[in-house]
Amino acid sequence: MTRPLQTNDNAMTYQSINPNTGRLLKSYEHLSSEQLEQSLATAEATYQKWKHTTYAERAAIVHKAAALMAAHVDDFARLATQDMGKRIDEARGEVTFSADILAYYAKHGEAFLEPTKLHPKHGKAHLESSPLGVLFCVEPWNFPYYQLARVAGPQLMAGNVLVVKHAGCVPQCAIAFERLLLDAGAPVGAYTNLLISYEQSDRVIDDPRVKGVALTGSLAAGRSVAARAGQNLKKSTMELGGSDAFIVLDDADLDKTIPWAVWGRMYNGGQTCCAAKRFIVMEAVADKFLAKFKAALEALIPGDPMDGKTTLGPLSTESALLQLLAQVDAAVAGGAKLLLGGKRIDRPGWFMQATILTHIAPNNPAYRDEFFGPVVSFYRVKSEDEAIALANDSDFGLGGSVWTKDEDRGQRLASRVDSGMVFVNNLDWADAELPFGGIKNSGYGRELGNMGIHEFVNKKLVRTGHVAAPV
Ligand code: NAP
Repeated sequence: MTRPLQTNDNAMTYQSINPNTGRLLKSYEHLSSEQLEQSLATAEATYQKWKHTTYAERAAIVHKAAALMAAHVDDFARLATQDMGKRIDEARGEVTFSADILAYYAKHGEAFLEPTKLHPKHGKAHLESSPLGVLFCVEPWNFPYYQLARVAGPQLMAGNVLVVKHAGCVPQCAIAFERLLLDAGAPVGAYTNLLISYEQSDRVIDDPRVKGVALTGSLAAGRSVAARAGQNLKKSTMELGGSDAFIVLDDADLDKTIPWAVWGRMYNGGQTCCAAKRFIVMEAVADKFLAKFKAALEALIPGDPMDGKTTLGPLSTESALLQLLAQVDAAVAGGAKLLLGGKRIDRPGWFMQATILTHIAPNNPAYRDEFFGPVVSFYRVKSEDEAIALANDSDFGLGGSVWTKDEDRGQRLASRVDSGMVFVNNLDWADAELPFGGIKNSGYGRELGNMGIHEFVNKKLVRTGHVAAPV
């Protein structure tokens, strides 16, 4: 027996507000208790049928969703730009990549989950991968489709079904993605968008029909949702924040490194978990690097993210902008120097100047905090060892990168960085094939690649063959 979910919070908090203008476009109410209960009941009923479908049947639907997304890139992209201010070319790129992820799992899901043969002393044994049931996913606004594709592609192929709480500022994207799967032929209840409050989210985690919880978001959200899942002894994965080091060695080719530094920090308005956030540069090239980097950031053109000529878009929400400005003020009050920017741009919308902070001492809050926007933290170091010590002196451990003409040297250093992912001479994060995730306060578990589809399946041991009972 499951008890109906209760909530007294019906505030209208799912709002699409155009970050370029500050204008409210659409509002949506939270689900009522009855609607939420109905959604969970439908998800559970659908799971009981979905788990018996063949991989081929699931793949046909997931593949169709990929094809529909690819055929309507502009429509999806426009909604992302309206909801959270992503520059339109980046939004198109995200939609295309999301379609690729769905297609990737449609193609490889079955092979990833094939039974694994084991070799015990007696008899035969294998591991089967069977689905767990209804999964609850909590997702952030910064990649409003990619984050959904990262869970929907693998988990639907694995035979699970999803109920998803997307971020409050991207309701149009959330609804469009649910519609996509329905249009692709997914049964009602296979993928359900839930417009719910935190209190309702807790009740969903507690609900016995829900068998696993995946969250991508901030440390605070991760702590709260993981604790709730833990109380319920439910498996969870956490993809949290990062403060990735961008380590420039003394032999780096700056002409190749600077464009990646700009992209690595400024892509998606600087609002990427695995963005380059701490620039750790060896003394020999530090002045030259900083001068070129500053010039490149100064050349960015703020403007309407719908305009292809804009190179500096707005932040997602006004509260995100105000928080970032306060973080920069606190850094300066704590002794950091402002080499560039640091202010709100004088125009409508949620725009912040590209900013560079230097002279950040270990006791400055900026030394440990994540800056989720166009803010560079710059450090000089004298040696490789100092670079690694600084890179690893972080509560986060998501990604990082090393820049050098000598790839062997780069790989040796990459092995010493404490994080879930390290890149040498690139920041080419985006590939459906490559597992994504971190350690320390950046979370646990992996999404994408072969690993992502194994997070929420029962690895069931089956041992066969008559063995005489011990006497
Ligand atoms: P956030 O506030 O944690 O929001 C993320 C999601 O969690 C939203 O859907 C939010 O809902 C929900 N949420 C927050 N607190 C909750 C609670 N107590 N109970 C239930 N749901 C809750 O994150 P953000 O600041 O918007 O997003 C940026 C953060 O995500 C950054 O730290 C970034 O590094 C991280 N991130 C990590 C990855 C990765 O793969 N590691 C990828 C992208 C982003 P509301 O919107 O309704 O508040």
